[in-house]
Amino acid sequence: MQKRADAWRAENHRIGLVPTMGALHDGHLSLVRRARALSDRTVVSIFVNPSQFDPNEDFTQYPRPLEKDIKLCEDEGVDIVFLPTVDEMYPQNFQTDVNVEKLTQGLCGASRPNHFKGVTTVVAKLFNIVKPHVAVFGAKDFQQARVVERMTQDLNFDLEIEVVPIVRDGTGLAVSSRNQYLSVQQKADATILFQALLLGESLIRGGERRADLIKTAMGELINAIESSRIDYLEIVDLKNLQPVEEIKNSVLLALAVFNGPTRLIDNKVVTV
Ligand code: AMP
Repeated sequence: MQKRADAWRAENHRIGLVPTMGALHDGHLSLVRRARALSDRTVVSIFVNPSQFDPNEDFTQYPRPLEKDIKLCEDEGVDIVFLPTVDEMYPQNFQTDVNVEKLTQGLCGASRPNHFKGVTTVVAKLFNIVKPHVAVFGAKDFQQARVVERMTQDLNFDLEIEVVPIVRDGTGLAVSSRNQYLSVQQKADATILFQALLLGESLIRGGERRADLIKTAMGELINAIESSRIDYLEIVDLKNLQPVEEIKNSVLLALAVFNGPTRLIDNKVVTV
């Protein structure tokens, strides 16, 4: 992959990278299309990265429909599907981590303590292997995108980070590889995440500025669904992701909700 990237760069091609864990869906494909629009050589990496899963999480269960994924990439005109193995990425004596300190403290970082360290380490490796001019991430993982932007700046990676809006299905549910874990009923219940975000947005649009009242209203809506359990529900500053008490500028409504055993995340930027 590195040799191919060097050869492309020598020929003045522009390389776009879409890092994924596979089980590709319309959300991933919108990233691929964006990468293709911004580059003339597109690489999709598929790597279920063990170091970003905490021990009690779904690493072994995570769906790996490789042939289907490769076909989807071919159909989208992807030049290379990069499929490293765990042993190639983390050989025996591997002992280096990349960690973004502050941005990873709250939201998903609070409930998944080792998650972002795993993400930034593998993304740094992918940047060094694929040598992209642009790497494309989804706003679905808003904190991840902010963390990767920070790492890119802090470590002087010479590339642009592009963030693409959340892709939802017809019910408003953000598409996700983990939606496969949901039963029909759980999938219907899971639309409560988006409904709560819309409620929060409409309260802000209606003039409410007190974050605690907005969070309470959103929380009550979610808690009315029996199978749902809130992991976090926050209103944070768009840049530093710190919770706000009073809504003055644009904010991010962000939540993680367990639907049965499956943890789903969603968010919405609200501009005031
Ligand atoms: P994953 O395979 O879940 O690690 O996701 C790979 C990339 O796809 C990440 O940048 C995600 O933010 C992005 N992504 C996943 N789901 C969506 C979605 N529904 N809309 C937009 N981007 C998404």
